[in-house]
Amino acid sequence: MIHNILTWPDPGLRRHAAPVSAFDAHLRALVDDLFETMYATQGIGIAAPQIGVSLRVVVIDCGEPDGPIALVNPEIVAVSEEIISFGEGCLSLPDVFAEVDRYAAIEVRYQDLNGAPQQRVAEDLLAVCVQHELDHLNGMVFIDRLGRLERLMVMSNYQGDGEAVLDAAT
Ligand code: ZN
Repeated sequence: MIHNILTWPDPGLRRHAAPVSAFDAHLRALVDDLFETMYATQGIGIAAPQIGVSLRVVVIDCGEPDGPIALVNPEIVAVSEEIISFGEGCLSLPDVFAEVDRYAAIEVRYQDLNGAPQQRVAEDLLAVCVQHELDHLNGMVFIDRLGRLERLMVMSNYQGDGEAVLDAAT
């Protein structure tokens, strides 16, 4: 099922999401819905809080050779010294783009849909995508990582409720 995506500054995007403890049909349905919603909106990653579900689940499809991935209870366990920045956007902030400093490579530990522990190294775009989506699980969006002036500048294009946006952006 394709869900509506919460758009900033919806308070649902500010919550710290809860860990998943049940690896059941509900979780599989949530992951299916996340993929469906992501593909319908041409995203390359989406986190459960973006569809109003405050659980630590993200799905990503950055065109990796081994296919799309679903990460349950993901945690970054190692990061590179090297920093990169891509022009990032977010399904929850339509038409807003900015370069954000991220680790060029990370190691992420997570569980699969059966609850089995998994670990993988991610580099470049996939690394950026994982960091962006994990921020959503902690109530952060990418503009929170910008300096105040840059944030105001990029948000001047945002098609939201003008007053709420300016208040929340400062
Ligand atoms: Zn996002």
